[in-house]
Amino acid sequence: MILAARTIIPGDGKTVLKDQAVRVQDGRITAIGPLDSMRTGDEPVRDYGEATILPGLIDMHLHLAAWWSERDKPLYDDYLRGYFALDRAQRALWSGVTTVRDMNGPQNLCRQMVRAAQKGWISIPRISFCNQAITVTGGHTYYAVGGTVERDGPDEIRKEVRRQIRDGADWIKLMASHEDGLQEFTQEELNAAVDACHALGKKVAVHVAAQPALQMCIDAGVDTIEHGNFLTRQQALIMKEKGIAWVPTIYVYKFALAWFQQIAEKGDMDSDLAFAHHQVRRYQHYLSFYKNFLELADTGVTILAGTDMVYETSKVEASPVAKELACMVELGFDPLRAIATATSNGAKVLGMQDSIGVLKEGLLADILVVKGDASKEIACLEHTIDVFQEGRRVHRPQQST
Ligand SMILES: [Zn+2]
Repeated sequence: MILAARTIIPGDGKTVLKDQAVRVQDGRITAIGPLDSMRTGDEPVRDYGEATILPGLIDMHLHLAAWWSERDKPLYDDYLRGYFALDRAQRALWSGVTTVRDMNGPQNLCRQMVRAAQKGWISIPRISFCNQAITVTGGHTYYAVGGTVERDGPDEIRKEVRRQIRDGADWIKLMASHEDGLQEFTQEELNAAVDACHALGKKVAVHVAAQPALQMCIDAGVDTIEHGNFLTRQQALIMKEKGIAWVPTIYVYKFALAWFQQIAEKGDMDSDLAFAHHQVRRYQHYLSFYKNFLELADTGVTILAGTDMVYETSKVEASPVAKELACMVELGFDPLRAIATATSNGAKVLGMQDSIGVLKEGLLADILVVKGDASKEIACLEHTIDVFQEGRRVHRPQQST
């Protein structure tokens, strides 16, 4: 099969190809070049015309089973959580997100979804996952029963890290600071988690927004900083040196601010107004620091696209990577640089750079086709035309097209 389009973005952050085509055979990309030189015999050709072909997107921070934000959450037992996560995973794939990193949910849920996909029962993005997140007693999202476990002290934490990895986790997720920025784990606890995780060849992702927890996580040598709203330039430089990547999750903060502003203004009867006002102030404060985004990114620290969309699913997309990239463009990235955060950068941090993340001969054919020229207009990513996962065309139900 040959896929052709006016624009091809390989995903390396700098290259744009014009009037070329991608050959896909047995799930892999076998050639990229001018369409005319590629045509052979009766090999099918899909020529998308004024469109862009790019790698399938990678969402580095999402929660497939974020059932705890649903209004009817008491109904959610293990079965319903599974269907909920499946629905989100499918919607992510249909929109062009072919790989996700799940950043906490019920133990084993992602593992079993991966198994079901391997058996061919379901069609979902490739999933790298952490199982449950580890938080201190009473720490960040301790109430997300099933998605988070409370552990204290280096020994308990080491044991939990080993348990998570025994149960198939690719990542360990730590909650290192509270919603209001309070430090949670001690340095000793963070060091123990990183040490136990790295000893087993896995990586650590850490939810952390403010100081001093940010510095403590960097000192502990974690692998990815999630949110990191109040990062300093000096810290970004150290992260670059130590190979720690940053997942700024910008769009979800904008979304949350608008969400709580609406509640605060309209006086939603189901919600606590004082809480909504508190959240508005908090998100304004958190968002104000993204004005430093470009300066921080220019240190060379690896930036990753993560959506963290944990709000009511009926009202939002499962994995709005396109919107996260649009936020980066708004803050000074050009579209190619933004796209690299959700393609080649993500693949490298997942350790999958030899199979996904760029359009290159020999790699898996995870491919997204969107309307228009995405190298000029990032909003093109909102208009999905086609999605291929390992060379197979992803079919979506009629109502979602
Ligand atoms: Zn999250």
